[in-house]
Parts: sequence; structure tokens; C-alpha cells
Amino acid sequence: MSHGIERPESRQEGSVVLDALSFEFCGDDLVRDFYGKKLREMEDYTKWLEDSRENLEQNREKIAKAVEDGLLNDPEPETIWKFQADKARESQEKVLAIKKEIESRIKEIRDETGRRLGKFLPDWFPGEARITFTMNEKADFCVEGETVTVDLGRLSFEQNPVEKVKEGLAHEVFHLWMKEKNKRPDPERSDETDDDLKNQIISRTVDEGLAVLVSGQSLAEHHQKQGRDYQEYIAESFEFFREFLAQDDGAELEKINEKEFRNMGHFYVVGNEIAAAVLRQDGMEKFRGQIVEARDNPPVFLGRYRKICGKNAGLHKIDP
Ligand SMILES: [Zn+2]
Repeated sequence: MSHGIERPESRQEGSVVLDALSFEFCGDDLVRDFYGKKLREMEDYTKWLEDSRENLEQNREKIAKAVEDGLLNDPEPETIWKFQADKARESQEKVLAIKKEIESRIKEIRDETGRRLGKFLPDWFPGEARITFTMNEKADFCVEGETVTVDLGRLSFEQNPVEKVKEGLAHEVFHLWMKEKNKRPDPERSDETDDDLKNQIISRTVDEGLAVLVSGQSLAEHHQKQGRDYQEYIAESFEFFREFLAQDDGAELEKINEKEFRNMGHFYVVGNEIAAAVLRQDGMEKFRGQIVEARDNPPVFLGRYRKICGKNAGLHKIDP
């Protein structure tokens, strides 16, 4: 049915041209040094165990899932230690190969990122921004100022690293678009009121939820991989969000902001469910207008979601 007839909604697509984005790659030496250092640090089991205790605790579900999937023989720390050392050796070669592949497919990646964004955004020619592929243990994809940093190390665990890069870039470049107008207050500022922080968390929930939707990422897949029942996780996420909306204590809000976005967690899920429900209900044409509105005023999505919730008993409520 796509032959010959121009569908009316195709005129709605924005032209997002990412020619001004530059792509940079770390050198092969940096990758080799990274894994060489990692292996040297891991030589001593007792020291490794000491350093990894918190990490092992945090990843308990993920480890249980790996045992279930047959990736690990048992959940004992020593087994994980050996597994990680083997992985580090393998990863070095994988990372070098992935880096080469991405470098050779930059045009395709840039065009596809622009296409995904254009489906949802109006015409946009962003200014210069830099995409840097390097070893970055702190985060897999992150944006700071005009620089998006991509961790090559995490890409080595992906079945389809190029697809992951397209999704991750669309996500981060969407944040750049949101930020162009909507300058969030500096989180380090001390004169900030609790109300500001609360609004910031709401804005961040909407921003992340939209970034996930626009980029084509799947939070279901992300959480199932870590051994979670996604439907249960959605319900739990809304529970935490309702508690958050009823919370006015500054210190508690700080904790929520620190915790609920980690690892694409609860508030990503809430933001994404809200955005998806509004899109389903209102359709693409309206939704594109709502995204533009949300750039100036992100909470607008919560208002729309409340109305939709009132008519649809199957949706999770955001009010207590
Ligand atoms: Zn994000």
C-alpha cells in the first residue's frame, strides 16, 4: 500500500540534518591500555573481591539470570572473577573490531539517527556537536555540553553494536534538541528550592521517556535482560512515582533523583509509558505538537496523561 501514493503524514516528518555532528574515535592503544590495566588489577583475587563487593550485591539479579541462562556455572564470586578476566581478554579484540566497523559506517549511522528524530521533531539543523567513541566506564552513552560520549566497552556485550549506536545517538541527540531551549537549572546550585528540584525530576522523567521512545530503544528488553518481569517492573515504577509526587522533603527528593534514573530505571519507565500512552491516544500528528510544547514545559505530558488515565482503567495512575 506504500506504492505511488504519498501518505499525508509523510509531509509531517521533519528534516533533521546532522551534518554538523563530528565523530571522533580513541586510538587502538587506548583500548589496549584499558584492558591491560584491567587484567593487571584483577590478578589478585582477594583484592578484586574487596573492590567488587558492592558491585556484586547490586548485580545480584543479573548474576542469577546469567546462571539461569548458562553463562555462569554458579553465582560464586570466584566464578564471576574468572569469567570477567576471560571477558576482558576477549573484549579487547571485540572492541577494536567494533570501533573499525562503526568508523566505516558513520554516514549510515548519521542518516539513520536523523531519520528517527525527524519522525518526531520539526525541521532542525543542530549546530556543532561532537560524538566521541572511547573507553568510558562511567556511562554507556552520555551527553555533557555539546559532547556525546559513547563507551566502546559496553558495546562489546551487544549482539548488534551498530543498532545500539543508532538508538543511543538518537536518544542523546534528542536531549540536545530538548536542551536547546529548555535550560535546566544547574543541579550543583545551592540556592535551589525543593519545588525546583521536584519540577526538575518531572522534567527529567518526561525528557528520558521521550528520548527512549523517539530513539526506538526497548526498556522491556533492557530490564528483561537483567532478569526482571517487565510488567511487574512497570507497576512498581508507577508506585515509586506516586510516592515521589507526594514527597516534599528536600533530602528525600535528592535521594529519588539520585536513585530512580539509574540504569534506565523506574522513572525512565514511567516517562516512557506516559509518552507511549499519549502517542497511542492522540496519534502522531498531535504528538509531534506535544513534543514541541514539552520542550518549553515538560510537565504538559503529565497533564495529558492524567486525562487519558481518567478514561482508561487499564493505565497506571500517577496520582495517589
Ligand atoms: Zn537520556
